Amino acid sequence: MGSVQIVTTILAAAITAVAVWLAVRAVLKMTAVIRLGQPAPERFTDKGARTKTMLVETAGHTRMLKWGVVGAAHWFVMVGFIVLSLLVLEAYFEVVTPTGGLPIIGHWTIFGLATEVITVLGLVGILVLMAIRLRNRPNRPGGRSRFTGSTMWQGYFVEWIVLLVLIFGLLIRGFKVATDHFEYPFWATPVSHAVGAVLPDWQDGTSVAAVIKIIISMTWLIVISLNVTMGVAWHRFLAFPNIFFKREPARPAGSGLGALRPMTSQGKPLDFEEADPEKDQFGVAHVEQFSWKGLLDFSTCTECGRCQSQCPAWNTGKPLSPKLLVLSLRDHAYAKAPYLLAGGGKDLTGEEKATQAQLAHLDVLALAEADKPLIGTAEEGGVIDPDVLWSCTTCGACVEQCPVDIEHIDHIVDMRRYQVLIESSFPSEAGVMLRNLENKGNPWGAPQNTREDWTKGLDFEVPRVGEVDDFEYLFWVGCAGAFEDRAKKTTRAVATLLNEAGVKFAILGEGETCSGDPARRIGNEFVFQMLAQQNVETLNEAFEGREKAKRKIVATCPHCFNTLGNEYGQLGGEFEVVHHTQLLAHLVSTGKLTPVQPVDGGVTYHDPCYLGRHNRVFAAPREVLGDAIEGDLTEMPRNSERSFCCGAGGARMWMEEKIGKRINVDRVEEAMATGAKTVAVGCPFCSTMLNDGVNGKGAGEQVEVIDVASVLLRSVKPEQPQGGKETAPVG
Ligand code: SF4
Ligand code: SF4
Repeated sequence: MGSVQIVTTILAAAITAVAVWLAVRAVLKMTAVIRLGQPAPERFTDKGARTKTMLVETAGHTRMLKWGVVGAAHWFVMVGFIVLSLLVLEAYFEVVTPTGGLPIIGHWTIFGLATEVITVLGLVGILVLMAIRLRNRPNRPGGRSRFTGSTMWQGYFVEWIVLLVLIFGLLIRGFKVATDHFEYPFWATPVSHAVGAVLPDWQDGTSVAAVIKIIISMTWLIVISLNVTMGVAWHRFLAFPNIFFKREPARPAGSGLGALRPMTSQGKPLDFEEADPEKDQFGVAHVEQFSWKGLLDFSTCTECGRCQSQCPAWNTGKPLSPKLLVLSLRDHAYAKAPYLLAGGGKDLTGEEKATQAQLAHLDVLALAEADKPLIGTAEEGGVIDPDVLWSCTTCGACVEQCPVDIEHIDHIVDMRRYQVLIESSFPSEAGVMLRNLENKGNPWGAPQNTREDWTKGLDFEVPRVGEVDDFEYLFWVGCAGAFEDRAKKTTRAVATLLNEAGVKFAILGEGETCSGDPARRIGNEFVFQMLAQQNVETLNEAFEGREKAKRKIVATCPHCFNTLGNEYGQLGGEFEVVHHTQLLAHLVSTGKLTPVQPVDGGVTYHDPCYLGRHNRVFAAPREVLGDAIEGDLTEMPRNSERSFCCGAGGARMWMEEKIGKRINVDRVEEAMATGAKTVAVGCPFCSTMLNDGVNGKGAGEQVEVIDVASVLLRSVKPEQPQGGKETAPVG
C-alpha cells in the first residue's frame, strides 16, 4: 500500500464511521417517532399481496410512469441507486489498492456491462430530473409550480450528489483504463474506455477518485442523517415499507381508491353502541393519534408536489395543498416527538400524562410544539388551519397521483372526525345538512313520503321491492335522485331506459334513506353508521336468500354507488353495485337499447370523482355517449384519472366556497372551451355544480349540462318529451 492509499483508506474509513453512526442514530430516531402512532393491525395481513404490490409498484414505477419522461428518468435513477451501490462498495477496495475491485462479481464482464449501462442511463436520468426541477422551480416567472412549498435545497442537493457519484464512478473506471488495470472489454464498457482515453496514466488516480466518491456518498448520508425529515432522500428507503403497508394491497390494480377507513381506537374499529369519548379515541386530535402508518406516510413524502399540482382546492386558490398538509404534519410530529418520547401527551380527558420530572429537561421548542393545537388558525398557533381542513373535496386526485401511496384522504377525514364529533367545530352551513340527515334521512330535509314523487307521470308502473320478488336490479334512487329537480330527470330517464330494455327492476321507495356519504366525508361517523346500518338492514331484507352475485343494485349517484359497493361491507352489507352508465352501456352493447337519433352539437364528458378516480369507471359513460352522439366525444384536457373535481365532494356541496375561485367555474370554463354544446355528467352533484357554473357565466342558453342517461334517452326515444331545460335545484 502506497502513501496515497494510506491516506485514502484512513479518510474513507473515518468518514464512513461517522456517517454510519449518524445514520444508525437517525434510523432509530425515525423508528421511535413512527412507533408513537396508534396500532394498525390490519396492515400486517395479506403479506403475499403486499410484497407483490410493493414489487410491482416500485420495479414497475406504475405511478411515476404516468408522468412520462420524468417517470422514466426517475426509474433509471432508482435502479442506478440500487445497482450502483455495489460500485460504492467497490470503491472501498479501490482506496486500498488502485487495482482493487469487488470479489467474484467484480470480474464478470456482465457486471461491467450492466453497471456501465446503468451509469450512462442514470446520468441521462438525473440530468433530466435536474432540468425538470429547474424548469418547475417555484420562483420561475409565471405560473404555480408543483414544487411551491417544497424544500428546494434538499432536492438540488440530492440530485447533485447522484450526478457527482456517477461522474466519479466513470472517473475511477477511466483511471483503471488509463493505467491498464481495467479488465472489462471495450464492447461492454465503451464509455469508461472513452473516459480513460483522455485521462493521464496516473496509478493513484483510481484511489483518489474512489475516496472522493466515498466522501460524496458519505456526505449525503451525513446530511440526510442530520435531517430526518428530508423525505426527498429518505423516500429511497421508506417508499418500500410505505407501499408494502398500504391499505387494501390486494385490491386489483386499476380498481380505484377503495373504502374510507373505519374510525378506530387502539387499532380496533369503533363500535358506537359501546364507545366512550373518555376512553376511546374519536378521530385525531393530536398528531400521535394517527396510526403508525400515518406517521410513516408523513415521513415518506418526497415533496414532489404531484398531489398539489392536481388538487382542485390548491388550483383555485384555497389554502389547502395535500403536500403542504403532509409536510406540516410531518414537521409537527418530529418537532413534538422529544416531548412524546419523554412520556408527554394528553390522555383522552385532556390531562397531561407526564410528570414534571419527566418534562424537566426537555427542549423548550419541543414543549412549545406540544402546545400547538392540531387544528387551529395561525393566531392560535395551529398546525393545520381549519380552512385547509375544510377545503378538501375528497376528490382523490392526491392519492391517485402520489408515487409513494400516501393516504391523504384518510388523514383529512380522521382530523375532521374529531372536529365534528368532539369539538362540534365545522362550517356552520353544513349543520343544516347534518340535522336533516339525522331527522329526515336526507340532506335536503324533504319529507320521506315524497321519495317516490319522481315516478309520477311516467307511462309505466315502477315496481317496489316487496310488491315484486323477481327483480334483477334494485334501483337505488338516492336522495338527489328522489328530491332534486335536475336529478329527478336523470332518475326518470334511467327508469324509462330500464323499462324500455325489459330489465326487471324495483325500488325501495320510502324504505330508502341517505347512503350516509356526506355525513362520513364531513367526519360525522356516528350519523353515517346510523344511516348505513338502517340501509344495510333494509337491503339485506330485500335480497334475503340471494347469494352476493344476485344482490344487484344500480345507482345513479356515484357517492351512493361508492358507499354501497365499497363501504357497506364494513357493516355486513355485501352487494354487487353498478353505476347506471355501466348498466346502460351493457344494454346498448347487447342490443337491448338502440340509439336511433344521434345527439348533435358536440358533447364533452365530465368524470365524477367518485365514479372515475374512486372506482375507475371511465369507459362505460364514454361508450354510452359514443353510441348516442354524432361524431366523437370531445375530451377536456383534464379527463379520466386526471379529471378535475366539480367542487361538491367531501360534503363541500353543503359548505360555502368563500376562498379563491369557485371550483365549478374553473371546470365549466374548461368544458366550455371545448366548444361542446352539451356537457354530459354522471352524478347529480356534478350536474348541480356545473349547471350553476354555466348559469353563472350567463351561458345557460348555449350550453346544456345533462346526465349521460338523458343523452341516451334522447337518442333512443327522440319522440319522448324531454321536459325542456332543467330547472334550478331545490337544495
Ligand atoms: S382529495 Fe382532492 S381536494 Fe382533497 S387534498 Fe386531495 S386533491 Fe385536494
Ligand atoms: S404526498 Fe405524495 S405526491 Fe404529494 S408531495 Fe408527497 S410524495 Fe409527492
